Formats: sequence, C-alpha cells, structure tokens
Amino acid sequence: MVENNVVNSVDFLGLWHASGHHQIFESWLDPAKYRDVKICCCKIDVIGLLERSSDELDKRTGLGVRYAYMHAMRRPFQSKAAAKALYDNFLGRMVNFARWEADAARKGDAFQCMEIEEAIWALGEAAHAFEDSYSPAHTGFQLWPTEPIKHVLREPDSAISGTGVIEATKGKFGPELDYILNACSH
Ligand SMILES: [Zn+2]
Repeated sequence: MVENNVVNSVDFLGLWHASGHHQIFESWLDPAKYRDVKICCCKIDVIGLLERSSDELDKRTGLGVRYAYMHAMRRPFQSKAAAKALYDNFLGRMVNFARWEADAARKGDAFQCMEIEEAIWALGEAAHAFEDSYSPAHTGFQLWPTEPIKHVLREPDSAISGTGVIEATKGKFGPELDYILNACSH
C-alpha cells in the first residue's frame, strides 16, 4: 500500500526524511571531495559519517517525545522557550565536544583517527537538530507529531532548497568542520 510505504520508507518522527538530511549534507559538502578525506594518517568518509550520525540520532531518539528538542520540536506541556533552551544547549554541547575531540587529535596521540571521527559524529548530531529546525513541520518548535502521515506530507524533500537550510548548515557548521579537518595541518 502506498500509505504504508510512505510511513515505512521515511523517518516520520525525525522529520526531514533521512534522505532529506542526506541531501542537505551532500549539497553542503562536495561528494568528490568529502567522501575520502585524508586527515592526519586517517582516511575518513566525512559525508558518510555525518549521515550515519544523523540517521542514528533519529533511531535513538525518534520514538521518544522526551527528545523532541533534538529535532527542534517541543513535547506536550512544554513551552516553546523551554524546548528552544534544550535545543540550544544540545547544539552547544555537541559543538563543544567536537572541538574538544579535535583538540585532542591535534595533540597527536594514538587515538587521533578515533578522535576525529568522534568529532565529526558529534557535529552530525548537532547538524541534524539544526537542519530539522528548518523543516516546515518543525519551524518555531512545533508540537511533536501525533499524526505522522500529515507531518511527512508537509516536508517533502523537494521543499529543502526553498528553506535556506543548506546555506545555513554550511554557514554554521562549515567552520566547525574545517577546524576538525585541520587537526594535522599546523
Ligand atoms: Zn530529526
């Protein structure tokens, strides 16, 4: 059934479809450059890591109304301001963690590759939440969906380019990613 396919093939709780997040990452970062990146003595699929991190965040938190703020939404009986405060805090924590891991990699210990991967992973989670905030079904910390199908229909992938989310993600997380990827170029 068409309806079932719609629900099963998309991330209706995480909110841009998983493919929507992938589309944003692949528009922000040129796949020719960011699929096989040499950093320090590591080879890293930067886009692949960001996408997996984003997908995992949905898998881990996409069923829990408690974590609505990680998808730029609010849960029932929560004010928009309270949800936004949690969201801002989440973004800040993930970005700080990414910098901390990148700084550890800069020191050149034996765990360099892992530290860089952890940093990119954290950035993927922050970027996911940020990207969700641009979805027409999320903007303004809307209530966590009780009607998933309607929710899906309000955020087709084709709507992505009109929201400015690609440019915004690039502007916010581009410098952070550069900071990580330059861990060995000093
Ligand atoms: Zn989400």
